[in-house]
Amino acid sequence: MAQVQARTLRNYVGGGWQAAAAGETLEDRDPVSGEISALVPLSGAAEVDAAVRAARTAQAEWREVAPQRRARAIMSLRAALSERREDLARLVTEDMGKTLDDARGEVGRGIESVEAACAIPHLLKGQNLEGVAGGVDVELFRQPVGVVAAITPFNFPAMIPLWFLPFALACGNGFVLKPSERDPRPAEMIFETIDGIEEIPSGICNLVHGARDAVNALLDHPGVDAVSFVGQASTARYIAERSAATGKRCQALGGAKNSLVVMPDADLEATVAGVMASAFGAAGQRCLAGSVAVLVGGADRQDEVRDALVAAAAGLTVGAGAEEATDVCPLVAPEARERLCAALERAESSGAEVLLDGRGADPGPAGTMFGPTIVDRADPESELAREELFGPLLTLVRAGDLDEALGFVNGSRYGNAGSIFTESGGAAREYRYGVQAGMIGVNVGVAAPVAWFPFSGWKDSLDGDLHANGDDAVEFYTRKKVVTSRWR
Ligand code: NAD
Repeated sequence: MAQVQARTLRNYVGGGWQAAAAGETLEDRDPVSGEISALVPLSGAAEVDAAVRAARTAQAEWREVAPQRRARAIMSLRAALSERREDLARLVTEDMGKTLDDARGEVGRGIESVEAACAIPHLLKGQNLEGVAGGVDVELFRQPVGVVAAITPFNFPAMIPLWFLPFALACGNGFVLKPSERDPRPAEMIFETIDGIEEIPSGICNLVHGARDAVNALLDHPGVDAVSFVGQASTARYIAERSAATGKRCQALGGAKNSLVVMPDADLEATVAGVMASAFGAAGQRCLAGSVAVLVGGADRQDEVRDALVAAAAGLTVGAGAEEATDVCPLVAPEARERLCAALERAESSGAEVLLDGRGADPGPAGTMFGPTIVDRADPESELAREELFGPLLTLVRAGDLDEALGFVNGSRYGNAGSIFTESGGAAREYRYGVQAGMIGVNVGVAAPVAWFPFSGWKDSLDGDLHANGDDAVEFYTRKKVVTSRWR
């Protein structure tokens, strides 16, 4: 088949588009057709150095710009992104694969972070305490941390760059983004949008494409002061350790294995809808995906919920994200499909029962389609119940009561999110209080906090202390200075 010549992406450095010096490229492939959509240059230390220098130079002036004016620049970014929101959503669907509705939601959430950062003059206000001794007052000021590097994953190629960029900029920092090499085109569109905004000075925002070498160059560069990362738990730990070795501040948001607790009194219809959206939305490729359902109660009720889940999942349509009927989109790459097949084979050979088998779905030309899958009777300590598999695969675990359910849930090494479905305020409250996770849903399957609150988990789902968005973003992107003055 004749393939259209794919273009090689360029970096955005110092306010202009530049070809990367690196000759080597990776292929960004369409998740549906498998065709090459773009070539991604594997930038290295030279490209990263140019981007960090540009950010540092621009930051020296940007930090002097009044916070109200920086806020206006972020407002212009909001307006410009809003004008392109449909184009950006369509590109997310094309490059990453998720359904158009889901992509619209992603872009909306990204713009919400931009909106939250518009409040920066208020968010940056310090503290003071008068008269701590004779004529002595104490004031706390916030100053930008310097240059921020953001390293982002494939599953939210527009939203996650937009968690970091607006807050970092609004706080007065320079910024360098290294997006996922698997679907970097939405990030490119965001930077094309920035390029047209007069109030955002040249050089303050930079985009460097690449993979490991580019990341390592950012982590080792003395001109980078802080690192915001989102990706797999093992990468997050690596990023945090390497950042620490060079004295950088780091927030590394990692992977997840989230459980959905279904109490015996839960409204069955609403619960099934919530579990479907959580387990199978974006083909399970979300850090908030619920990939384990903990069915609480007697055997009859557990079986009733199981049957309802299987019936609903069997009715979902697998297909391309751009098709309106699609519920379950393709996986990011054929390797993801192979990984799921291998995990299912291992589960079956140790006695698990596959109630609905996604391996039967036509893999399609790209080898990325995988149907909704539900597995029962897996060992609660097995990989299916404990490890992040990042696909449309729901494992059922059974528990006699809420205590037992919480015992299972809290046995996870992850603590990103979790939900309970119940009609009982007391059960919801007990769960909320006792569950070891950062983002909790009550009768909500995908408990994504709005951008005015911090986003992130506990345990191995976060390396670092401060989460993305909300007040945590301002805390992370600023240094505190405390001044003690005596005036008699
Ligand atoms: P990933 O860890 O493979 O990649 C993330 C980024 O790290 C990419 O930019 C990649 O180039 C870089 N990278 C990967 N391996 C590297 C290495 N060895 N050295 C240096 N850099 C490296 O993650 P992914 O597969 O793109 O994204 C999916 C993961 O992200 C899932 O685990 C998901 O749970 C997680 N995630 C977490 C959150 C959260 O809020 N906690 C949000 C979204 C996604």
